[in-house]
Amino acid sequence: MRRIFLLLTVVLVAVLGVTFAVHPAEAAFSDRAKDLTKIAGVRIGKTDGNVRIVIDADRPVSYKQSVLSNPMRIVLDIQNAWIAPEAKKNTTVDSALVSGVRVAQFDATTVRIVVETSVGKDGYKIFSLDAGKPRVVMDFGAAPSGSAVKKPAQETMKPVPVQPPQTDDEDVQDADNQDQIDRDLDAITGMKGRKIAIDPGHGGSDSGAIGPTGIMEKSVTLRVSRELKRLLEAEGATVILTRTGDTEVSSKGANATSVEELEARCEIANRANADIFLSIHADAFTNREVKGTTAYYYTKGTKQSKRLADSVRTALIDSIGTVDRGTQTSNFYVVKHTDMPAILVEISFISNPDEEKMMNSPEGIKKIAQGIADGIADYFG
Ligand SMILES: [Zn+2]
Repeated sequence: MRRIFLLLTVVLVAVLGVTFAVHPAEAAFSDRAKDLTKIAGVRIGKTDGNVRIVIDADRPVSYKQSVLSNPMRIVLDIQNAWIAPEAKKNTTVDSALVSGVRVAQFDATTVRIVVETSVGKDGYKIFSLDAGKPRVVMDFGAAPSGSAVKKPAQETMKPVPVQPPQTDDEDVQDADNQDQIDRDLDAITGMKGRKIAIDPGHGGSDSGAIGPTGIMEKSVTLRVSRELKRLLEAEGATVILTRTGDTEVSSKGANATSVEELEARCEIANRANADIFLSIHADAFTNREVKGTTAYYYTKGTKQSKRLADSVRTALIDSIGTVDRGTQTSNFYVVKHTDMPAILVEISFISNPDEEKMMNSPEGIKKIAQGIADGIADYFG
């Protein structure tokens, strides 16, 4: 037994060595990515009450697994890997065996998969298939490996790494390790690694709407966008602002037509290949009584755009407590000409004295940004 433990220690040291060797923090992601295994996606299927989770990779993978209790979770760390942005990150599974699967880029070179499960140690099986399309398979159920697994003869099964026998000392170490993994899990959010384009409405020669005391929409949208950028970056996202000062976005400045100006904003998001686009605005109406929050997406927009609009509107209203004017469709240029899920948010009415005051206060700006950030976090799950 001691020999097995020694062997595992050697393997662990070797794996750590490799991890550090390919992990110069300053290397550009694209440089590192080509040396890493791409995890294209995680597929989850149910057959005869069993649950199968398949992790698709672009080359054979090596992985480490660990088990956490209360609640029972199986953690699979795929080494020297990165997760494709389009891969689904959180999945709720309607099964007595598995309740959820979470996938995240745990650090620069590790993709972590966490499976919430009710099965004991004999109730699941993990193996990798390297031939053809490389993948790791996690089977949960009474007879996970039986006739359901029909694999071509040339494919080899790797045994699940053997856990070392536990002594009292190791129990203590294990508890520390579990605490660490729990802390690490808390740090995983759907925001990590996302590219988010934020468009502060108006700017420069275009003030946008002006409130009863003279507060300009262009300054509210910029203050909110800056605070939102700070919050999203703290969660691990990359944020692109279409403008950072009181200026037009088009290189033609004040001479740009309104279409040229809006085109320039879309182009920034499209060129950056952002995951989502949010244009931030404040509403106005001749009747100063009117108040509330509205989210828009393109009339022929995607389900994702609608979901983003709903998530942001709901969370924003939760945060600032105004009237819900719903999610609506529109042909606004910026939601029509952006290539990713895109929305335009009318925070509230700058023409309403109370809402103008709220949007001009530091606390108001914070609440607005936090609400929108919560909505985005909800969208990415
Ligand atoms: Zn506006």
